[in-house]
Amino acid sequence: MERGIDMKKLKIMLSITIVLTLVFSTFSFSASAIEPTTLAREDVPSILDYEEVKSQGAVRRLRENEENLSSIVFENSDGSNSLYVFTQNVKYADTDGTIRDIDNSIVHSNVSGYKYQNSKNDLLTLFPNKFDGSSMIKLSYNGYDISIAPEINLDVQSQYKKSQNAVVYPNAFGDGISLSYTSNYSGIKEEIIIDSKPQNNTFSFLLELHGLVPVLGPESIALYDDKGQIISVIGQVDIKDSSNSNGGYNFSLNNSLDIETLSDNKYRVTVAIDQEFLESSNTVYPVVVDPNISINKTYQKDTTVYTNKPTGNFWSSAYNNVGDHGTSYGIGTGFVQFDFSAYKEIPFDGITSAIYRVYEGSGKTNSSTIDIRQPSGAWTDTSLTYNNRPGISSTNIASQTITTSKYYEFNITSLVKSYIQYEKTSGAKGANPKRGMALVARSSSASSKHFCSAQHGNYPPVLKITYTNYALLGPKWSSRNCKFKISELPTAYQNGVRDAINSWNAVNINFSFTVDNNSSNRIYCKSSGMTQGTVAYCSYSWYTSNMNFASAEIVFNTQYHTFSYNVTSGNFHIASIARHELGHALGLGDVYIDSNAYAVMYGYSSPGESVSIKSADIIGAQKIYGSRS
Ligand SMILES: [Zn+2]
Repeated sequence: MERGIDMKKLKIMLSITIVLTLVFSTFSFSASAIEPTTLAREDVPSILDYEEVKSQGAVRRLRENEENLSSIVFENSDGSNSLYVFTQNVKYADTDGTIRDIDNSIVHSNVSGYKYQNSKNDLLTLFPNKFDGSSMIKLSYNGYDISIAPEINLDVQSQYKKSQNAVVYPNAFGDGISLSYTSNYSGIKEEIIIDSKPQNNTFSFLLELHGLVPVLGPESIALYDDKGQIISVIGQVDIKDSSNSNGGYNFSLNNSLDIETLSDNKYRVTVAIDQEFLESSNTVYPVVVDPNISINKTYQKDTTVYTNKPTGNFWSSAYNNVGDHGTSYGIGTGFVQFDFSAYKEIPFDGITSAIYRVYEGSGKTNSSTIDIRQPSGAWTDTSLTYNNRPGISSTNIASQTITTSKYYEFNITSLVKSYIQYEKTSGAKGANPKRGMALVARSSSASSKHFCSAQHGNYPPVLKITYTNYALLGPKWSSRNCKFKISELPTAYQNGVRDAINSWNAVNINFSFTVDNNSSNRIYCKSSGMTQGTVAYCSYSWYTSNMNFASAEIVFNTQYHTFSYNVTSGNFHIASIARHELGHALGLGDVYIDSNAYAVMYGYSSPGESVSIKSADIIGAQKIYGSRS
């Protein structure tokens, strides 16, 4: 026989809002039913598809449970939660501190000197009415300013293209060479659109910086602040044509960026395009050149290693190119890593699915099977190369056959469970999340698939984790009943415990509690030998042979805490505490994720707080005993 103990802990730190909410929440003897709700359209940010999110069961946005600006949580109709982890911030704090969803729509600007701007973000992108030699495009974030304009003295008027949500400057580099800009979550995406073979292959921009210093890297220009942090990146340049035949378009990464200082804070950035590509008879115009200017705040670390670039590092690329990427690059293998430290309170054994959703953007239609496998060691995105890459397991965690460009889903549940378990247990169990995952082409001769990376502002990847809000202790009562002796308790406690028993017996679980003062399972108050951090506890024993409970005991800590039958400030509410401990007595474990602050099995409580049995508690108990009908 084994013994266990579970205690309700005192929560010392509480925010004012939580206290008020709980003190005034309605006290109910019976379980609260799950109220039918319809997901509000404004609760689904534009980065997700409202109809799709709704069809997958979401009924409510749980804003108060969202841990940071890069994640969103929905409650589902079955009581589970779905957490969306994005690679970039999808929310921002406005000037009065209110957290809002980012909206990348282009709107008219009321900032002097500019015609258009992005709609809602703490990162401001501003577009002038025209390039006239002095006006520039500006990206402002957190006191830093990055301004850029084509270095050519043409009077070019802006146009807003609604279908692309883009600001276009036609013929900005002369006849047939236009510039198109979109605002995204982390900055500005620029496209140089070349209608026919150009006379030269270089394009110069003026760059003006405030508070930042540029450093040219092998594939990108990093902009550093005075503390040596990379604040922004002008990312790797790729170019593709319009052939869209023979399984996609032609592309080249053999382009380069250069930078020279003109005067204080003023620089010239030159984009040099693959001359061979521009002159090739296979190249179909228009051709699109695609640099990206982004604020460096991504939460997914990713990069690609290539067999023919053994010492190259490509972390700033907007794509992870997996498979045969042409002779100069060789075969690409993608590496992706999420930071799970903010999500360690998710009950990892309650995770029912983890789906990695990533956009393939090559335009190629050839078929290539991509496998997700686990690397055997940790790696760092900014220093990973083909030569220093970790080994990769030969076991496929998930596989997808990639054809046309669209979002693809990989089921990586087992990987995410082990990474969150690692965070929760401080490395004692599970696997180190810094191993991440590798995207491997099953056939190395298959033409590369281009997966949008964390640096890709327009089609960022997302990880969707669905989890249940309950935990199970393991044992159960084979009789589907548990009797408690309550006659040792003072009357107020007896009444509160009866309320708690009635509320558990009122919900649809194939199980019941009975008051039986001849039972050896006792509920009583204890005023010595207790510890202050414990409000009450449930100790229990079970048979390891069949995982059936043998006994249970519930104790109120009256040595350190005061309790009352009614909900009163300063006292713990007897029925609420009893409801929690009875939950343990029937086999439920504590849950600590904040979204369960409403559930009776949330592991912390405060004086003056009243909690009722919630859908997560009922679903968990039904998992053990089933429902009555
Ligand atoms: Zn507990």
